[in-house]
Amino acid sequence: MSFLVSARKYRPTTFNEVVAQGHVVNTLLNSIALKRIAHAYLFSGPRGVGKTTTARIFAKALNCPNASGGEPCNTCDACEEISQGRCIDVIEIDGASNNGVEQVRTIRDSVRYTPSRDKYKMYIIDEVHMLSKGAFNALLKTLEEPPSHAIFIFATTEPHKLPPTVISRCQRYDFRRIAVEDIVLQLRHICGIEGIEAEDTALFAIAKKGDGSMRDSESIFDQVVAFSGNSLTYDSVRQVLHIVDQETFFRVTDLIVTGDSSGGFALADEVVMSGYDIQDFLTGLEEHFRNLLVAKATGETRLIEAPEDIRTRYATVAEQFSEGDLLRLLRLTGQTMQSVRYSAQPRLRFEVALIDMIKMDSTVEISTLLSTVGSGGVQLATPVSRSTQSSRASHTPHTASTPLAVHDARRDKSGSSAGTGDMVEGIRQAEHVYKQALSANTLTVQQPSISITTSSPPLSGHADISTHRNIPTNPIVQMLIDGLDAVLVQRT
Ligand SMILES: [Zn+2]
Repeated sequence: MSFLVSARKYRPTTFNEVVAQGHVVNTLLNSIALKRIAHAYLFSGPRGVGKTTTARIFAKALNCPNASGGEPCNTCDACEEISQGRCIDVIEIDGASNNGVEQVRTIRDSVRYTPSRDKYKMYIIDEVHMLSKGAFNALLKTLEEPPSHAIFIFATTEPHKLPPTVISRCQRYDFRRIAVEDIVLQLRHICGIEGIEAEDTALFAIAKKGDGSMRDSESIFDQVVAFSGNSLTYDSVRQVLHIVDQETFFRVTDLIVTGDSSGGFALADEVVMSGYDIQDFLTGLEEHFRNLLVAKATGETRLIEAPEDIRTRYATVAEQFSEGDLLRLLRLTGQTMQSVRYSAQPRLRFEVALIDMIKMDSTVEISTLLSTVGSGGVQLATPVSRSTQSSRASHTPHTASTPLAVHDARRDKSGSSAGTGDMVEGIRQAEHVYKQALSANTLTVQQPSISITTSSPPLSGHADISTHRNIPTNPIVQMLIDGLDAVLVQRT
């Protein structure tokens, strides 16, 4: 018997078997039950998520004489012929290679004739966005007044390329990217039937590489099985797909926690010498930090696409970082991806970034900062209303005499148009004054403004932050949000 790829062998044949597209399937089933069948459907969504498959099932369900509960029987002539793509009443057309006016004219001419055997004459046009402008125009007339026996199903990965006149004549169904968990379930199902032993981590790695596409995932699955036989391990998947071991990313976070820069150089060397693409590595690292941030910020690991034991590990590691740290690590990774792309020495950039992460100071927690401020004898004013605060400010000659407003700093530097550079400069000044004030023990924090006075060196500042976005509950919080993540304290 000839080998049939999994994507075809395990292609769903009923609505019930379609994975992760419940919203589409249920609507179609209801429309069949209520006998409210439209004349044109648009199935849009990423590749390999079941658009053409669903179109075929829909065609079978409408034409099968034994259909029950909206599902086709899959045994009658109509069902078999449609499944094999040789039914003369259900015509599948590849829009990419039949995109001219001529081809559409042929459709337009044939659509008038009643179906030869089945109830409906159906046209499934794949990659419909590839049709030429003329072809769409030729199609429009037919879509406007189709004969009662005709149904069009258009499938596309790029619905935005369709003329609005066509879209408005279709019922549109948006297919979703399939979740990694759902793909893993399907692969597990295939393993069961084929008698293949597979590690959870192996299937997750395959599903992730498939990037939301069932077809891609199943193709990768076949490839890995061809390599490693009936026993799928994470290592074999890694070898075939040449993906970075998840362990390596956990090592990066370990190095950051221990501040081990020599380990950082060793790891960079290992990554480069193993022939991994630095960009791919950074993409993986970015996801790693993202997962940690998810664990930290949400306090749960539901949104992490990984097997259970790895999720638990994320939750544990996340405890060693603050949200601010993880955000900065994410930002740094993103910047490194940019600079590596255009650098003549990507390896160097990569190494520097790794060391930068390892040597990164940890951001200070707001609560810690406030307690430091409090214990240092710095005066923290209680929240006051804006009117009280302004009158109080006018009673503070030091503050008023030499104002250094963050907003003024912006405006003064660049005239009418405040550039982002000046904003940064303003924040920098505010930060500087703030630090001075911390050491000189003269800091007044009010809401929603911050006044700082120092005697040595003579500096005073007043930053009105009420016009900043999201009026803060605490000015320091807002300053940090606006770029003061440079207000750091050493980790040790
Ligand atoms: Zn049937």
